[in-house]
Amino acid sequence: MSSTRATRIETRERNEKWQNPPLRIEMLECINCDACLRHCPPTFGAIFNHGADVVIIPELCSGCDKCLPVCPVDCIYPDPDWNPAQVPDDWWSLPLSEHDPY
Ligand code: SF4
Ligand code: SF4
Repeated sequence: MSSTRATRIETRERNEKWQNPPLRIEMLECINCDACLRHCPPTFGAIFNHGADVVIIPELCSGCDKCLPVCPVDCIYPDPDWNPAQVPDDWWSLPLSEHDPY
């Protein structure tokens, strides 16, 4: 079943229709320029500032790849082996906060 961003945030589940794996930012390479965040479509709204880091919540990332070409250091990678357990619980407070960029 397809889902909206709001339900994905509520249920913490990816849209099962999405064929592409979510993407992951390699924090050791990222220069925190926020270009990717500004290019993630609001219907997905998957990229957030988290303290000094920029992170992708995989359950919200469709794998649309719109963030890839704008990254100046090519540090965004497909993450086919992602696991919900790798997402720290506090990341989920980001889309619910008043600072949700989408
Ligand atoms: S692949 Fe698309 S949905 Fe995922 S973080 Fe990049 S722009 Fe957002
Ligand atoms: S565009 Fe690349 S370098 Fe800039 S914040 Fe995103 S992942 Fe980091």
